[in-house]
Amino acid sequence: MPRPPDEICAECGKVIKRGIANLVGGRILCTPCKRKARREENERIAYESLKHVTQSFHSKIAGTSHEGRQSIVRYCNRGESLVLIRNPNNRFSRNAIAIYNLSGKNLGWVTEDSAETITPIIDAGGLAWATVTERTGGHGHKKHYGVNIEIFYIIEPPSDWIERQNAIIKSILEKRSGCLASILMLAFFRF
Ligand SMILES: [Zn+2]
Repeated sequence: MPRPPDEICAECGKVIKRGIANLVGGRILCTPCKRKARREENERIAYESLKHVTQSFHSKIAGTSHEGRQSIVRYCNRGESLVLIRNPNNRFSRNAIAIYNLSGKNLGWVTEDSAETITPIIDAGGLAWATVTERTGGHGHKKHYGVNIEIFYIIEPPSDWIERQNAIIKSILEKRSGCLASILMLAFFRF
């Protein structure tokens, strides 16, 4: 019985010992490359199946105790809708996303951790928004109010969702006075 010959991995070029090559999608791969290919395929399938689905995770608003925001934050209600406005020109963080209520008041920012997840999605044309899940503090040792939120996002939203979101953002920026609004507007709108 002749032994099968050594083969070359089509991905990394390594020589694969005879008899243990893997055939994946018509290509001969070594075992690490096969695992990587499987993992990438699973990620691609997950992305494809979820890109039109609204996903969410829990977070909180950062910066609620700065710039007089406590007087706004204390009136937050559970279930209240919040608008996330990307500010790519922020000088402290390139992932900066400001959080507004529908009256156009700034409540703070998306936390760094959460912004890392959301920013690439927004910058690639996705949508993100949030609702208040709980207002915290305001009594006992915790006099400062905080706001827990749920952040929702969709990677490839329907176009009418984008139009609606842009209309909301525009109205919020118009409620704000002066040049800051136009700076934000210029920074945000890509068209
Ligand atoms: Zn390989």
